[in-house]
Order: sequence, then C-alpha cells, then structure tokens
Amino acid sequence: MITIDGSQGEGGGQILRTSLALAAITGTPIKIEKIRARRPKPGLQRQHLVAVQAAARACNGHLDGAEINSREITFTPQTPCAGTYVFDIGSAGSTTLVLQTVLPILLAADGPSTVTIRGGTHNSMAPPVEFLTESFLPVLHRCGASATVTLERHGFYPAGGGAIRAVIQPGQTQVALDLMERGKAIGRHAEVLLANLPAHVANRESQAVKHGLHWSHAEVDERAVDAAGPGNAIITHLRHANVTAVFTAFGELRKSSEQVAHEVIKQVRRFSESEAPVCEHLADQLLLPLALGAGGRFRTVKPSEHTRTNATIIGLFLGDVVTIAEDDAGAVVTVRGRNADAG
Ligand code: ATP
Repeated sequence: MITIDGSQGEGGGQILRTSLALAAITGTPIKIEKIRARRPKPGLQRQHLVAVQAAARACNGHLDGAEINSREITFTPQTPCAGTYVFDIGSAGSTTLVLQTVLPILLAADGPSTVTIRGGTHNSMAPPVEFLTESFLPVLHRCGASATVTLERHGFYPAGGGAIRAVIQPGQTQVALDLMERGKAIGRHAEVLLANLPAHVANRESQAVKHGLHWSHAEVDERAVDAAGPGNAIITHLRHANVTAVFTAFGELRKSSEQVAHEVIKQVRRFSESEAPVCEHLADQLLLPLALGAGGRFRTVKPSEHTRTNATIIGLFLGDVVTIAEDDAGAVVTVRGRNADAG
C-alpha cells in the first residue's frame, strides 16, 4: 500500500484525483492522509467525495473512510471496468473534476463507457466544459485516445443542476505528443454566458472585452443559457493550428461586469505575450494521460504548483517520468509514457 500525503505541494483536490486514478489503473492500494489540508475547508467536500466513489465504482474498488469532511481514506482497487455510469454530485461541485478522476480509469477499461455527471459545469477553479472539448480533448485525440464530452445542461455555483455526458473508448494515448509551438493563429472568439440574470450584465462584459482586447463585434457573442439558477461566465477561445487555448472568468455576486471582463482580458494578454502553446491549466491536466500512454513533450508557461505536485504524485506510482526543464520563456515538460513503445 502507498501512503500519500494530501498536504504536500498544492495540497488540494488534484492530489486525490490523480492518486485515485493511478491506484485504479496500476492496481495499487492507497491510503491518502491530510486530504486537501491546504484548503480553507479541508477534507472531502461533495465533489471530492463523489470523485472518490466514482473511482471506486469504475474499478469495483473498496473504500474506507469515504464520507463528507473525511481527511483520510483507504482505497483498494480492482480492475477498471467499462459501463454506463451516472454520478450525481448533489451540489454545484464540478462535474469536470469528477470526470478528471474517472476518465483515465475508463480509458484503461475493457470496453466503451458512458458517464453522466450532474452538478456544476462552469465553476471557478475548475475546467469549464469548453476547456475540455476545445483544448484538452483535441490534444488527447491527436495522440490517439478517444473520448467525447457533451454539455447537457449548464450548472453554475451555487444552484448547480447541470450535467455533462462523456463517451469514452478504451485505449490510452498511442502517439507521443510533440507540442512545442502554437502554429499559425486561425481564429479567436469570446462567448459571454448568462443565465437568469439581467441582460446588461452580458452587454457590459462584451463591451469591456471588445474594448480591452480590441476584438471586433463579430468576435464576441452573448448567449442566454438555461440553468437552475443565476450564472455568468466569459469564455475566450484562441485557436491556433496546433492548439486552442481557452480562458475563463466567472461572474460573482458583488463583482462588477468590468471586473469579470478584466480577469479574462488579463489571461488572454498574458498568453498572447508568451509563445508557449500550453497554458498553465492544460499543462497540469496533460501529465497523467501522457504518463499512462505514449508520453511526449510540450512547451508551457511557467509551471504552476498544480503541475509540479501532479508530477510528484505521478512519480509515486510510475517513477520519475515527468521532467520539467524551466527556461526564460517558461518550461519544456517531457513525459516518459508507460506505453512509450506502442506508437
Ligand atoms: P481544491 O478545492 O482542493 O482546490 P479542487 O478539487 O477544486 O480542489 P484543484 O486541486 O485546485 O482542485 O485542481 C483544479 C483543477 O482544475 C486543475 O487541474 C486545474 O488546472 C483546473 N482548472 C482550474 N481553473 C481552470 C480554468 N480556468 N481552466 C481550465 N482548467 C482549470
């Protein structure tokens, strides 16, 4: 059994998700201590508890200590098994982060799976669905892994009530990733999502985005969406030949529309000033699928604590397979894949 210290590095939910997935795939029993110790509300919150239960279901594993607020669990996995799964977070907790846990497990299963997850689909501090469909999954597809994600209903904090559906074909990445350059810019677009809020919120945000980024009218859309409660997000898509970068800012009570716009503008400008194809978030999310498949390398911006911590957790199960070489422009990350010879 491997014992994992959940307070190390980033000290958040990603340590839990990566550990669960690796335990299930490698058949290694784990004990995770000090779960989310560096967060204001430590221990398993609803999203994390459902991720733990989902990992166990996806491999017929056995859990001890899996309850709300628990700071320690043990997980004894069996074999990843394909199936039709429905996971209901029961709050606005992030559906995409529950998917982040089960996707690698079901890619290692014996047949195709369908997974429906209910909860939040657009949460701050988590990938919005568009990030998965436009940024993350296309990179996986390019490397030969196959999964699609569909947004069934938007879910925002605090009401939740959203749903995503993923269809996952078995098979980890087969072809080594080589993503060192963005390639030619081929388009850019911003979408202001609005649910159950006055239209002026979206109008002011789209004005501020156009003004702040010098984007044209045609490059910024406003879209009213159906959701259980109020919600607002600005999602920008920067399309390049080799990768699409997706940046998001979320509306919140007592945050002005201009402030929300400013948050996304800042991220877009920072990305435009660098040349790295892989943003901070895509970097931490690519490590696991690459390590479990054919590996590869990519250039990214200065690595986040999430990326470093994820590399450390992967190291506990698979050895020192992630190398991060920092330079003035950011870093080159090289991942030795478990199936590096497959391609
Ligand atoms: P905690 O509440 O413990 O922080 P968490 O379960 O919310 O835990 P983190 O450990 O902080 O999760 O991990 C968040 C994950 O969401 C990371 O993979 C990070 O890259 C991703 N993420 C956060 N914000 C974005 C964003 N705007 N776009 C894409 N991905 C994001």
